[in-house]
Amino acid sequence: MRLYNTLSRRKEEFTPREEGKVSFYICGPTVYNHIHIGNARTFLSFDVIRRYLEYVGYEVTFVQNITDVDDKIIKRANEEGRTAAEVAQEYTEAFIAAMRALGIKDPTIRPRATEEIPAMIELISHLIEGGNAYEVEGDVYFAVRSFPSYGRLSGRDIEQMRSGARVGVDPRKRDALDFALWKAAKPGEPSWPSPWGEGRPGWHIECSTMSARYLGTPFDIHAGGDDLIFPHHENEIAQAEACSHVTFAKYWLHGGMLTIDREKMSKSEGNFLLLKDVLSYVKPQALRLLMLQTHYRSPFDYSADRLREATASYARIESALRNLLWSAENYAAVPLAPNELGDKSVSWTADLLSRTEATREQFTRAMDDDFNTASAIAAVFELITASNSSVADGVFGEAHRRAVLEAYATIVELLSVLGIEMDVEEGAAREEFPAEAVALAAELAGYEGDSPAKAVEALLSLRTAARAAKDWPRADAVRDGLTPLGLTIEDTPSGPRVIQK
Ligand code: AMP
Ligand code: ZN
Repeated sequence: MRLYNTLSRRKEEFTPREEGKVSFYICGPTVYNHIHIGNARTFLSFDVIRRYLEYVGYEVTFVQNITDVDDKIIKRANEEGRTAAEVAQEYTEAFIAAMRALGIKDPTIRPRATEEIPAMIELISHLIEGGNAYEVEGDVYFAVRSFPSYGRLSGRDIEQMRSGARVGVDPRKRDALDFALWKAAKPGEPSWPSPWGEGRPGWHIECSTMSARYLGTPFDIHAGGDDLIFPHHENEIAQAEACSHVTFAKYWLHGGMLTIDREKMSKSEGNFLLLKDVLSYVKPQALRLLMLQTHYRSPFDYSADRLREATASYARIESALRNLLWSAENYAAVPLAPNELGDKSVSWTADLLSRTEATREQFTRAMDDDFNTASAIAAVFELITASNSSVADGVFGEAHRRAVLEAYATIVELLSVLGIEMDVEEGAAREEFPAEAVALAAELAGYEGDSPAKAVEALLSLRTAARAAKDWPRADAVRDGLTPLGLTIEDTPSGPRVIQK
């Protein structure tokens, strides 16, 4: 398996620290608002990467923090006359609910910044002792000059940044690039006691502390959106490595930004769509399908049109699966005689089996190559197309039926690796026909029950019997009665079936 490491700027072979196990950290949200679909894209990308690692057999410890103390949370709390803790609690719960609604797996551990403050104070104290940080009037800053490889992750020219940053720099800082580890409390702000007085941690120190605490160092994968490379991840590395001299994370994975009309979706810019709102009108599977059709490192431009297309593609998958299941259930027990359609049922079987195997291989190859979900999905669609044509004339014989069920199971399994869960099986079993079918069946076929599905069955049996007896008016009465209910009879080689248009 190869993955692109931002640190080396190339694809590298993935070798976890411990065989069979992966330690994975992803920066979580700042909980001052509902998350937007840009945030969701990043979380989705890494959910799929985690799922794939688990699929190939790794035991993954997946940690995602919650930033529940921050300027933006405090600002919102003040505007609304609530405490910062109340605001953070509300949006933490909303975040967890939205993640689950999109089918994102819960992390193994979800630490909250406000519950980890003693460990942060300990790390900051170490940094001060080692000469990597200094205190000024209750604030503590990281001394960037004390960490010579600062800028390595983002590949930035530190001297250039330094001269660019000179204007308006806090005169108490020793270097324009120094950043806050601890902020002295201002009146009315939440605060915690520390050796430097009452205050609260800076954002970057949270992640260095929580990742090392729950995963140890070096851990395997650190992930986030590519807007976090600088300064957040650069600072996380500096803080963690300055005092420990041990590599912090081995592989840095960054997702591309979601844009809308080519602009980055962002809460502060105000051009955002909330995940919870989008999920009120689109199925989570369709949204996942849409987002995963672009490679996770590329930018992704969202539009309502693309969402509509993905919804239609998802419906195509559902109906293909339903059709496969129906065809396999209603198969002709005997293979086609060689003189009927040549030896087609034999070649249909062989072709479908080999396409199924090829799809599995393509899927794995694509995912092993830096998680190329777009081409993994393309491989699944090839199997869907092949399956559709394999059953177009019906399913003949046990071998063909088994191949069709194998293709069905493969499509369901591979989509579920991407977190696209299909519930067609259940749906097909309780196909929802309109209630009016009951009255029609009572009238024409003397049906006495109240199940629309059974009523449709009774109507089909009546029609089959009528046709056998050459009672055409009676057979036509069934068809004509179903039409106004939006139901059409389709005669297939495996027998008649009713479909909803
Ligand atoms: P934040 O709450 O702003 O720290 O963002 C949480 C996560 O969402 C981070 O991993 C960000 O990189 C990511 N993120 C923010 N905006 C976008 C966007 N427009 N597209 C993709 N990811 C984003
Ligand atoms: Zn972070």
